[in-house]
Amino acid sequence: MSKYWSETVKNIEPYVPGEQPKDKKYIKLNTNESPYPPSPKVIEAIKAAAGDSLRLYPDPNCDELKETIANYYSLRKDQVFVGNGSDEVLAFAFMAFFNKGRKVFFPDITYSFYPVYAELFGLDYEAIPLDEDFNITLDRFNDENGGIIISNPKSPTAQALPLKDVEAIIKNNMDKVVMVDEAYIDFGGESVVKLIDTYPNLLVIQTLSKSRCLAGLRVGFAMGHKDLIEGLERVKNSFNSYTLDRLAIAGAIEAFKDEAYFQETLKKIITTRERVSKAMKELGFRVLDSKANFLFASHGDISAKVLFQELRERGVLVRYFNKPRIDNFLRITIGTDEEMDSLIKAVKEILKV
Ligand SMILES: *Cc1c(COP(=O)(O)O)cnc(C)c1O
Repeated sequence: MSKYWSETVKNIEPYVPGEQPKDKKYIKLNTNESPYPPSPKVIEAIKAAAGDSLRLYPDPNCDELKETIANYYSLRKDQVFVGNGSDEVLAFAFMAFFNKGRKVFFPDITYSFYPVYAELFGLDYEAIPLDEDFNITLDRFNDENGGIIISNPKSPTAQALPLKDVEAIIKNNMDKVVMVDEAYIDFGGESVVKLIDTYPNLLVIQTLSKSRCLAGLRVGFAMGHKDLIEGLERVKNSFNSYTLDRLAIAGAIEAFKDEAYFQETLKKIITTRERVSKAMKELGFRVLDSKANFLFASHGDISAKVLFQELRERGVLVRYFNKPRIDNFLRITIGTDEEMDSLIKAVKEILKV
């Protein structure tokens, strides 16, 4: 604490990302990164962009990247916004669409950045409890609110929401913005992108960090009605004209062009997920049905906290949330088959089975 801090800074509690330890080499299954490298074509494009042109500012409008994403999703360019990771896009969206004095709604168990943004921007919010099985209590989202954000598939439980449920929330809240954070949608959920032309209050947010193996490049995007996109542009252009650098723009464009590589990595991760999920159930875990690149699991005989520590000692990093209702679960990223075999081996050792 410093006397020089603003009141805002004194009062915020920043988000804490999963650890990136440097003391030794771990099997990293704690931050939902892809275990596979980006497409070789992405690397080539970044290398090609790393030249003389770096002395020049990048395109502040990222037109070529927006065009590429728009084509990919059958949208128009003015329905796409891009930013420095979807975390930045989400922050801009909170600023652009939510108002002080009107409660923002999100589930009580969700991506922990949502309450952090709300606090940072001085917004009131209400965390709407999920039911015992971590399902959304749909009718509560009809209560008076100032906007909604949900993630689908759900973070950190990995379950996908049925499209009709997401649509019901959007439809019942037509006079405010409903944001759907689809960070994990490519791993098996049903996207609401196809509803964009039906609902002018829908903003869909996605990222290249997970399914496109590019967490280190920092590219996220939002899709929605052009008026929502214009709102986001107004925030961005009041903050930083160049949120995406030349290398990020070049790499991101190529990531959308190499569809074959994208599909191949998705397939590998999904196959591994199903295999590991089954193996963990056989070891006595409760594993929630995952449509993401991670599993959310708990075991009756050992506390998640102890299991987390024991795994860490064996060089396997997973994510443990010391939070009510989920403090007996671990979130485990899907790694390569080899990495997951090491995880299972370590778990068996710890459980002595
Ligand atoms: C990982 C994640 C993000 C952030 O992704 P970046 O694009 O890397 O900033 C956003 N929302 C959810 C739910 C996530 O899990």
